[in-house]
Amino acid sequence: MFTHNLGYPRIGSRRELKKACESFWAGTLTKDELLWETRQLRRRHWQLQREAGIDLIPSNDFSLYDHVLDTALMVGAVPERYHVLADGKAGRELEIYFAMARGVQRPGADIPAMEMTKWFDTNYHYIVPEFRKDQTFRRYSDTVIHAFEDALQMGITTKPVVLGPVSFLLLGKEREAGFDRIDLLDRLLPVYADILRELTARGAGWIQIDEPCLVLDLTGKQQEAYRKAYAWLRKEVPGAQLILATYFDSLGENRSLAAALPVDALHIDVVRGRKDWAEILTDDTFLSAGRILSLGVVNGRNIWKNQYADSLALIAQAEAVLGRDRLWIAPSCSLLHVPCDLDLETDEISLPAEIRDGMAFAKQKLTELVHLKILAFGEPSASGKAILAENEAAVRRRQTSSLIHRPHVKERMEAIQEADFERISVFAERQSIQQAWLQLPAFPTTTIGSFPQTPDIRQLRASFRKGTLSAEGYESGLEKEIAEAIRRQEAIGLDVLVHGEAERNDMVEYFGEQLSGYAFTRNGWVQSYGSRCVKPPVIYGDIERPEPMTVRWATYAQSLTDKPVKGMLTGPVTILQWSFVRDDQPRRDTAFQIALAIRDEVTDLEKAGIRVIQIDEPAIREGLPLRQADRAEYLRWSVDAFRLSTAGVADETQIHTHMCYSEFNDILEAIARMDADVITIETSRSQMELLDAFSEFAYPNEIGPGVYDIHSPRVPSEDEMVQLLHKALNHIPARNLWVNPDCGLKTRRWEETEAALRNMVGAARRLRPVI
Ligand code: GLN
Ligand code: ZN
Repeated sequence: MFTHNLGYPRIGSRRELKKACESFWAGTLTKDELLWETRQLRRRHWQLQREAGIDLIPSNDFSLYDHVLDTALMVGAVPERYHVLADGKAGRELEIYFAMARGVQRPGADIPAMEMTKWFDTNYHYIVPEFRKDQTFRRYSDTVIHAFEDALQMGITTKPVVLGPVSFLLLGKEREAGFDRIDLLDRLLPVYADILRELTARGAGWIQIDEPCLVLDLTGKQQEAYRKAYAWLRKEVPGAQLILATYFDSLGENRSLAAALPVDALHIDVVRGRKDWAEILTDDTFLSAGRILSLGVVNGRNIWKNQYADSLALIAQAEAVLGRDRLWIAPSCSLLHVPCDLDLETDEISLPAEIRDGMAFAKQKLTELVHLKILAFGEPSASGKAILAENEAAVRRRQTSSLIHRPHVKERMEAIQEADFERISVFAERQSIQQAWLQLPAFPTTTIGSFPQTPDIRQLRASFRKGTLSAEGYESGLEKEIAEAIRRQEAIGLDVLVHGEAERNDMVEYFGEQLSGYAFTRNGWVQSYGSRCVKPPVIYGDIERPEPMTVRWATYAQSLTDKPVKGMLTGPVTILQWSFVRDDQPRRDTAFQIALAIRDEVTDLEKAGIRVIQIDEPAIREGLPLRQADRAEYLRWSVDAFRLSTAGVADETQIHTHMCYSEFNDILEAIARMDADVITIETSRSQMELLDAFSEFAYPNEIGPGVYDIHSPRVPSEDEMVQLLHKALNHIPARNLWVNPDCGLKTRRWEETEAALRNMVGAARRLRPVI
């Protein structure tokens, strides 16, 4: 019976990896220094896992940038355009590696980076492997071998981790038409066999092969690829001891496939796969093959303490069938997705001790595994009893804490009625009422919310936070910024104005800080991509809005102009998606609690005379469950949460929403059911093509397809935007078309912002005579 870890956060509890990489990119750290520093970090993490008492410690879970990129290098899948960087010389691997991740731009070389996308339903982004029809593979980078050897020098025989060949292919994409990347498997497998053979020869016992794609809906052909790959590897490298790791969901339809793959151990996520994990215990093939089952019982996706009694019940259930020799325990997935160390959180104001007491970060989760092993398999002892009692007490405290449970919030949840989700009139009626009330011109112009966050603005917020600026000083500073933003918008000639969001550093944290039920960490960083980290706030309890959050700024802005000022809020699903969420009630309930708080803000804004209110939901799509079968339910409650937050207003009040991604096809029905009077979306980079779906679906409400890309400082011309608008008019009735940029402008400078918006307003005006 082993405890093992699937992966440890790479970034470091003090974000050492971030600092080292960024210094190296900036030229202030040499290559040798980078390698030395990151080696120390890796070693520290091994040491820490050894001290925690983990039986099998992973290696090659570390990465300088991304493990999928590492895999591409391991098998030599380096796209042609980077080959010039090698320049016929050896030792250029690191330069090529970072060029693939980030692109290079210097005299003599201008090569774009590879694409990046979300790792399953996490907030981690990986580099998407690129494949060509004539793709070949070879052993290229030996990081996996070096890491194993390095740990061996410390006296630790690690469990090397590699991303499996089938998932590697499935997670990539074809760079040209005319082939299916899964057909490259035959060419890829020999490289894997070679690596497994060498690791085994150098003394590796267990090797972990990650095949997370086994939790997705697979086609027959993809399933066949799994059978073929593992049968072949087994035959080629009979001596390698393989643990096949799956995570992020249950195996579902792929259970018998996974159970029959000829490996030595299978890891399953029993947190996400809680519903049906135990079916593996009745799978005859799995049972008769004598394989080990690794139970992922400690949640690798959130920051709450494990409930030992609960985990012990699962372990006992598996032990009854398999016996202890065929049973391991582990985190549900790599700990990459949680922060490093709760011990660093000592600020009681942002994280009350009572809440902290219910939490566990990566380091604490290792201890939980060791505790579970002692409790499940150790001799009964006084210390075991104490461990269990302490855990049970912590669980009970969470169940009864008055910080967490607010009876009146629960009462209000109970009292929600059907009518609370419905606007008074249907869209067609609201549209004419709003037209009469707002008196906007055809093709109204607006922006998405934020304006340039100048150094002055950042300074203002920072000094206020530090306490070196008084509340009055801060407020008058903000008012000055708002007045300036309003003045500029009027000069540009925009129709619906915004206050500019100068008071916000982040669209979720800003609201979290004003809601009860939220806590914040100082060092709770989680890697998002490369050296970038996020620090999600923590929803620990019932959510409530003690007082208005944005009304003051919106009404001040409105007092300065006759044009409508758009109130600006973040939607309940986005707030949920970008936080760590309590695990003691369904996500839907937490979303509804947030929705009620936003609803109060919406009605307060309306009362204060704000006639247009935007509720951003850029994260609805990323919350989609991995499996098709689970999506309808998620979309039902997430759209309901949006409706609950918006439906409290009069017909006159115009509700906007904003989303910034380029794929709507599969969720258009849900988007339509949100029933926002206006939706603004990112479209300029796709040349309005994504409106095809909207017109085919006959999307009924008003739309503002972004007419320029805010990610670039480039100022688009009036002509360009007129052309895009003509394209949009092929899809959208003129009465429904808005004119706006793709997203918020906070990363831009005023200079280019003003120039671009002036051209945008010019473009809208040129179109107006059309109707
Ligand atoms: N209102 C936000 C802004 O303008 C929207 C940000 C987003 O869509 N991610 O910054
Ligand atoms: Zn956006």
